[in-house]
Amino acid sequence: MLRITDILDKAESYLPPQDLEGIEKAYIYSAGMHHGQVRLSGEPYLSHPMEVAGILADMELDAATIITGFLHDAVEDTLATLKDIEAGFGHDVAFLVDGLTKMSKIQFASKEERQAETFRKMILAMSADIRILLVKLADRVHNMRTLEYQNPDKQRKIAQETLDIFAPLANRLGINWIKMELEDLAFRYLQPNEYDNLSKLVAKGREERKEYTQEVRKIIIEEINKCGLKGEVDGRPKHFFSIYRKMQAQQIDFDKVYDLTAFRIILDSHRDQDCYQALSVVHSCWKPIPGRFKDYIALPKMNNYRSLHTTVIGPHGERVEIQIRTREMHEWAEEGIAAHWRYKEKRPQYEARDEEQIKKLRELLEVQKDLTNPREFMSNLKLALYHDEVYVFTPNGDVLAFPRGSTPIDFAYSIHTDLGNQCVGAKVNRSIVPLKYELQNGDTVEIITQAGRHPSKDWLKIAKTSRALQKIKHWITMEERTRSIDLGRDMLEKEFRKRGIKYGSFVKSDELKSVFADFSLNSLDDLLAMVGCGKLSPRKVSNYVIADLEEEKKEESPADIPVRDKKKSKSSAGISLTGIDNIMVRFSKCCDPVPGDEILGFVSRGRGISVHKADCPNVQGAETDRLVELEWNIKEKHTYPVHLRVVCRDQKGSLAEISGVITSFDVNITQLRMDAIDGLNVMLDFRVDVHDLQQFNKMVTGIKRLKNVQSVERMKHV
Ligand code: MN
Repeated sequence: MLRITDILDKAESYLPPQDLEGIEKAYIYSAGMHHGQVRLSGEPYLSHPMEVAGILADMELDAATIITGFLHDAVEDTLATLKDIEAGFGHDVAFLVDGLTKMSKIQFASKEERQAETFRKMILAMSADIRILLVKLADRVHNMRTLEYQNPDKQRKIAQETLDIFAPLANRLGINWIKMELEDLAFRYLQPNEYDNLSKLVAKGREERKEYTQEVRKIIIEEINKCGLKGEVDGRPKHFFSIYRKMQAQQIDFDKVYDLTAFRIILDSHRDQDCYQALSVVHSCWKPIPGRFKDYIALPKMNNYRSLHTTVIGPHGERVEIQIRTREMHEWAEEGIAAHWRYKEKRPQYEARDEEQIKKLRELLEVQKDLTNPREFMSNLKLALYHDEVYVFTPNGDVLAFPRGSTPIDFAYSIHTDLGNQCVGAKVNRSIVPLKYELQNGDTVEIITQAGRHPSKDWLKIAKTSRALQKIKHWITMEERTRSIDLGRDMLEKEFRKRGIKYGSFVKSDELKSVFADFSLNSLDDLLAMVGCGKLSPRKVSNYVIADLEEEKKEESPADIPVRDKKKSKSSAGISLTGIDNIMVRFSKCCDPVPGDEILGFVSRGRGISVHKADCPNVQGAETDRLVELEWNIKEKHTYPVHLRVVCRDQKGSLAEISGVITSFDVNITQLRMDAIDGLNVMLDFRVDVHDLQQFNKMVTGIKRLKNVQSVERMKHV
């Protein structure tokens, strides 16, 4: 088992002495918190955070990262709180531990391949600081190294997730050793038989290959020395998983895999051109295989891997794979992003080169530009690539990606149109949230539906995805039309009944055709929709049938003209049937509705719709089939009359005070009546013009505050 002194020794070799104190403190804290906990291996739990911290120290990462290695499971698995950690180790460490705790809550159910990339993106998006990801990878390395103690089910699950998510993440960050180790360990548990066979086969030829490797190394070193290049050559067996992948991809047996050993020329040079020179040396010794040369120096990989690759026909006519790189390129190839930080720290003279090197990485990771202190480099390396997306879970554990700012409505429509249309609410992580809730990374979202519920126009302001917006608009358009048609039919039938025309025969008549022709309509539904939304009056239609009332065609009685005319009735504006604009309406005199009041429409014969307050006694008793739902749809400001009754002390100045308050709310008084009730009090009846209920209520509150006022009441009518 690793000891704390090993970690401190390692840290001392590259960190300033004052950093060691914090690391030791984290060790003691972790030992205390995890005391009594045991791993499946039977070892004390502490061995796990210790090994993770050890891996991070081997990668020569900064003190905060190593401390986080010790504490990464503390909040999740012990009584430690984030506050404790912040108090003891500072904000930086607390931030990293918090990121890891959040990430540990993600459930990686076994995923199909198409989901894996989404998971990887999600993890990148959740790692606000790259060090979170490095600790997570170190954690995974140790968990994979000790996977034998888990039961077979868990072994497979964890191994699959490692292969699908964590090995590719290590690859993306260019940390090759982690990628290879994770792949081989995962392979061992996912395909134990293949792994066993392969390891036996590789072991069998080991001695033979050792001799062969020596031979090739010797030739290469002699040849490059001849032209003045220095460096080392290593010939290492490829990792099992890459051999296995090759056998699978090319459908070949093990004995057909010639290049089990990959050779690397690592030059003691900082010059790119020396690599090309070494390449020409190799190519002059052995014949290159066409099409196998790859120049990752001129064109580095996405993760900033740089090297020359070639395959040649070796001394015994066999294929030999050779990689050529400088020492710096090699460190990058093995340690990726972790090496970069070290370069900045230790060899500031290479900073310019470094900038060049991370050019590719910049595209992947956003780097803060004006960094003066290299220590801050890692912490400021933000994974910005996926910051415009959020990743959330369905209740089944599938991951879906959405643009940042998306809401449960977007989520619902992305799954099914019906789910969107009938959506009434949502649960996020099992708590009810409003529909305008902004989805966060890692949320589990569940949609609550109710049959018969419909989208509302407000959703257009809430939804973000084009799919959701399109579906909502479509529904509203369809709904508006359906409602207009129903209403139009209703109005037309009533008009016809009044004038003794049979609706049934009209719809089959020639008159209908002339209506179509005159208004360029194509169907009865078009006509009804036009009537329903007030663009064509029922009277006008019925005039086509009653031919002998020719003169009425020209001269309609005023009562039948829709009150849409702005001059005649400014009060018609600001109302729509749920979903329909441009409706013809009249405001009832009996209850004086103002915006903010709940309202209902009463379809009156030949006179359009009259608007009442929902609690108006006149509509309470009405036939329900003549009532329609209305809503306010204020686009321009209008004023609406309201009646107000104030009872106050009959004292000098009372009236002036009250009118002062009313006008202070920018409300106009149009009528006033004053009656004495008794010797003490008077009753004041005002008629005022207000914009909406809110303004009215504020004004009432203002009046009630006056000392002399006894009561204030909104009157149905005067
Ligand atoms: Mn852990």
